[in-house]
Amino acid sequence: MKDIIANNEHLRKLIEGNKRYMASHLEHPDQTSERRFELKHGQHPFAIILGCSDSRVPPEVIFDQGLGDLYVVRVAGNVLDQMIVASIEYAVLHLNVSLIMVMGHSQCGAVAATCNHEQLEGHLPSLTFALNAAFNKAKGQPGNLVENVTLANVDLVANELKQTGAHFPEMVKDNQLTIVPAYYHIGTGKVDLL
Ligand SMILES: [Zn+2]
Repeated sequence: MKDIIANNEHLRKLIEGNKRYMASHLEHPDQTSERRFELKHGQHPFAIILGCSDSRVPPEVIFDQGLGDLYVVRVAGNVLDQMIVASIEYAVLHLNVSLIMVMGHSQCGAVAATCNHEQLEGHLPSLTFALNAAFNKAKGQPGNLVENVTLANVDLVANELKQTGAHFPEMVKDNQLTIVPAYYHIGTGKVDLL
């Protein structure tokens, strides 16, 4: 894992920002009016984050980044569907972003609801349905079920993206695209690469 961080400047930038956040030494980069003005001419984010909608896991905060730095897709349970894959494809193919982080987190309500087989209203079952593959993979493993399912899910989602995104398989093979699963600890603020 140290190798992948050392060899990927964008991943290093995320991890360094997360360390500042954990240590309460935030720099709040790229949040000035000058930066805002500069971005009128276009965006060149350096990483894509697919994360959960949970209010406790905002990527710009936990990685100490600013305007135009991160291309963020958030959905409860950080699952995939066609529009989410399309949003990510846009950033890879049209904004030339070469790093995708799929980030799950501790105490994820969407994962907990899936683990508890809760009867949910409205459109909510579509989320637990999307998390079922991870549940089936992780159930029976020793340890905490919600954590295990969350870890299984980021792994499955990262792999599915590698296989289904347009041109992603060859880009990953040629080292033009890196897709990393990660896990955020709400209590400590630490992001672990998996
Ligand atoms: Zn969540």
